[in-house]
Amino acid sequence: MANRYSLWSLIKNGLKHHESWQPAWKSPQPKKNYDVIIVGGGGHGLATAYYLAKEHGIKNVAVLEKGYLGGGNTARNTTIIRSNYLWDEAAHLYEHGLKLWEGLSQDLNFNVMFSQRGVMNVGHTLQDMRDIERRANANLLNGVDAVVMTPQEIKDMVPLIDISNRTRYPIMGASFQPRGGVARHDAVAWGFARGASELGVDIIEQCEVTGLIIEGGRIKGVNTSRGDIMADRVGCVAAGNSSVLAKMAGLRLPLESHPLQAFVSESMKPCIDTVVMSNAVHGYVSQSDKGELVIGAGIDSYLGYGQRGSPHVIEHTAAAIIEMFPSFSRVRMNRQWGGIVDVSPDACPIISKTRIKGLYFNCGWGTGGFKATPGSGNVFAHTIAHDDPHPLNRAFSLDRFATGHLIDEHGAAAVAH
Ligand SMILES: Cc1cc2nc3c(=O)[nH]c(=O)nc-3n(C[C@H](O)[C@H](O)[C@H](O)COP(=O)(O)OP(=O)(O)OC[C@H]3O[C@@H](n4cnc5c(N)ncnc54)[C@H](O)[C@@H]3O)c2cc1C
Repeated sequence: MANRYSLWSLIKNGLKHHESWQPAWKSPQPKKNYDVIIVGGGGHGLATAYYLAKEHGIKNVAVLEKGYLGGGNTARNTTIIRSNYLWDEAAHLYEHGLKLWEGLSQDLNFNVMFSQRGVMNVGHTLQDMRDIERRANANLLNGVDAVVMTPQEIKDMVPLIDISNRTRYPIMGASFQPRGGVARHDAVAWGFARGASELGVDIIEQCEVTGLIIEGGRIKGVNTSRGDIMADRVGCVAAGNSSVLAKMAGLRLPLESHPLQAFVSESMKPCIDTVVMSNAVHGYVSQSDKGELVIGAGIDSYLGYGQRGSPHVIEHTAAAIIEMFPSFSRVRMNRQWGGIVDVSPDACPIISKTRIKGLYFNCGWGTGGFKATPGSGNVFAHTIAHDDPHPLNRAFSLDRFATGHLIDEHGAAAVAH
């Protein structure tokens, strides 16, 4: 890697006043032809391009991004990473992603700041606790780490949480995935972009795909704001805009695009060193390395592409967090933002071929796709390279909406994360 980052390169560049660093990725003009075009320069699209080049030797690849790299949901999410899903298919897919996270900084030679501080899902009712036990047992059977905790064990780990029975929804226990955690979202996009560019992938920003060129049931290329670009294989990884792209091919995806918001507080001293989530009061919180509380909840119920949300959702979410952490009522909030998430009927992704030969979709990750970024790119690259799904994403094809083999992860997806 020409641009390899190390202590040695830091010292060397430091001696030159840091004026000789190479750009992390190249920004070439688009060529007329590629073997594969990836539409969408978020984490999933960039990871797909990286693994196409690295694992399948397909390097004549372009990633077309209408804005700036990682400016979609990749930049807007709250970065929770875990693999404790209920059903075998989902648990295996997300666990594949988690295993890749565990070696990602080394693989990319880029610090994605993956921090395995654990993810806790608290339960407030007897039914919550039954669901927690069931999911933890299913996780253990699938080789996914899971622990069930008592209220006192929760309090020992998170001293600020209120486990008294004075609250409206007292905390009765929790599941905990020790290998879960958080990562730095921008670094994931930049790391994959740098790795893919190094392997020969063209990363083209400010290039919106405005149409798909299809002849005789085969994809031939794309119309873009920078002219037509041809390729026999096109992978669409456009999150909230997936239905818009599908429509260009005359396809209708079973997706709804909803706003999803998050907000952060002022910076504080370390006060919570894990991720706490509650489906029942409907909120979750972690603390960033800068000291901000990172807080999120559920989608706004209306459909839209506005990348902003409604104030009442913020109010509801703040109330949920204060219910669990009364002392946070005195913390001032700093920033709020929204992304557009592509929600599927079974809260599981679509990683699939389509009836148009050479046209593939990777979407439907809804509120929880960040955690899957490396795994999603890895199996999607396989699907495109072989024109056949990877064993881990075979169950996530579009056919499931016709056959009825849905993988209902509403319980494990629950509060949006
Ligand atoms: C507020 C919020 C909190 C979240 N929290 C979590 C969490 O804690 N954990 C978790 O696992 N997930 C979370 N998610 C979900 C997660 O962010 C997404 O599932 C994931 O980032 C999707 O990645 P992506 O690369 O597919 O999409 P994106 O990053 O959105 O990338 C898609 C890209 O496609 C581009 N694009 C769209 N149309 C076109 C076009 N016509 N031509 C060219 N480019 C196009 C867009 O500009 C965009 O950059 C959250 C999402 C939000 C909004």
